[in-house]
Amino acid sequence: MKSYRKELWFNTASRREFINITPQIEECVKESGVKEGLVLCNAMHITASVFINDDESGLHHDFERFLEKLAPEKPYSQYEHNGFEDNADAHLKRTIMGREVVVAITDGKLDFGPWEQIFYGEFDGKRRKRVLVKIIGE
Ligand code: ZN
Repeated sequence: MKSYRKELWFNTASRREFINITPQIEECVKESGVKEGLVLCNAMHITASVFINDDESGLHHDFERFLEKLAPEKPYSQYEHNGFEDNADAHLKRTIMGREVVVAITDGKLDFGPWEQIFYGEFDGKRRKRVLVKIIGE
């Protein structure tokens, strides 16, 4: 069995951002040489997500509004977690959007359904953070 590991680094300009990382994951699959297997992709931080959805800007604004309704960033004082930090909303947003995705690799390619794309979801950015890519298979 082949095994492959890589860390992808991000440093977003704003506090919250969605980045389509599908091309980078496809590059990892190519590098791994795996033709049949699985790719796991997870945020290595508890204020960021990896999720699968449509690459459509209207939807991304909808996600932002939806998440701000459920866990508004401000006022910071509304959260017990915000003693020394101000990122309680980011922890909650990440929990809603999820930690990781697993995608099948078939014939050397990501075996997606229609419109599926992989995103890094940043909720407490402006610093260096990582995503783990782990690929196993033959
Ligand atoms: Zn925190």
